[in-house]
Amino acid sequence: MLRRRDLDLAVLEHAAARGATVHYGHEAIEPVVERGFVRGALVRGPGGAVLSLAARYVIVADGANSPFGRTLGTFRTRRWPFAAAIRSYWPSTRTGDDHLEIGIDLTDRSGQPLPGYGWVAPVGDGTVNIGVGLLSTARDFKGTNVAHLLDAHVAALADRWQIDPAAATGVVRVGRVPMGGSVQPTAGPSFLVVGDAAGVASPFTGAGIDTALETGRMAADVVHQALSEAGPTALQRYPRLVAETYAEQYKLARLWGRLLGRPSAMRQVTGAAVRSRLVGDTLLRIMSGALRRDEFGAPETVARLASTVLQVAPDA
Ligand SMILES: Cc1cc2nc3c(=O)[nH]c(=O)nc-3n(C[C@H](O)[C@H](O)[C@H](O)COP(=O)(O)OP(=O)(O)OC[C@H]3O[C@@H](n4cnc5c(N)ncnc54)[C@H](O)[C@@H]3O)c2cc1C
Repeated sequence: MLRRRDLDLAVLEHAAARGATVHYGHEAIEPVVERGFVRGALVRGPGGAVLSLAARYVIVADGANSPFGRTLGTFRTRRWPFAAAIRSYWPSTRTGDDHLEIGIDLTDRSGQPLPGYGWVAPVGDGTVNIGVGLLSTARDFKGTNVAHLLDAHVAALADRWQIDPAAATGVVRVGRVPMGGSVQPTAGPSFLVVGDAAGVASPFTGAGIDTALETGRMAADVVHQALSEAGPTALQRYPRLVAETYAEQYKLARLWGRLLGRPSAMRQVTGAAVRSRLVGDTLLRIMSGALRRDEFGAPETVARLASTVLQVAPDA
């Protein structure tokens, strides 16, 4: 378990050590576009001064709302599910536990199961990270307040995790996570889009840190190729790379999201996961992205069957 501020700093320091110039505290205000090609960005420094940074290629990585990406024409397919998530930190004597806890029994005020989950992750610094994520396919998604869900989740686990619900420490982070490749296009003639700006978080879990790093690496490879030999056409390989890596998983997950939006289905899935170790393990492996295409265990078989059903009947 690593706090985001530490992870982000480690990534920045690594980039700087490899020769990148890091402009700390600068905000990209708008792209510089010349004859239809992005050629850099206008950037505001901490003192308010605006400078123009020139670039042959630009990688857009400005997160879920992605104003920079939207200026370049990216958009989210609105009928595909997204997640709303909230988390904070609480002091706990169990901060050093070596496992995280996932609760798939979120309910609304009337006790109906909700498509989502709550988590507790020991951080090892005196606190635990507690949060809740909810899929937009929930029946009354707009009327459901994730802050209230978090309150209920924290109250339910307070004794077990030895926390005082009123003693949250640190920033409450709340936000939406676009998922499942729901943002397009991910490449233009001289730019690429990565991470939440490209909507690549896992639609099973809403986790997007790993896919942000993975797509960042894919984009770096492609830009390296463009700079060293192939020129701008190399950028067109990036959307294919992203699709090859995630497409099958995404298809399956969209089906999953629609299914879990029905309380009765959610109830049956959680019930079966609690009763059967096989179902529970399958669920965990699907949710954590740990399925391997070259393995033939029960979870892989379930996923393969579902993929086949989707190919035969895409609207199933
Ligand atoms: C409450 C919550 C909890 C979550 N928990 C998890 C989790 O436990 N595990 C997990 O894998 N995922 C989690 N996610 C999802 C995860 O946070 C995102 O998928 C992930 O952060 C995406 O990374 P990113 O780099 O694309 O975007 P971000 O992490 O949003 O980073 C974008 C960065 O760009 C900067 N930026 C934005 N605009 C500009 C600009 N104009 N100029 C300069 N900089 C700019 C921002 O300051 C930010 O630092 C969570 C999401 C939420 C809302």
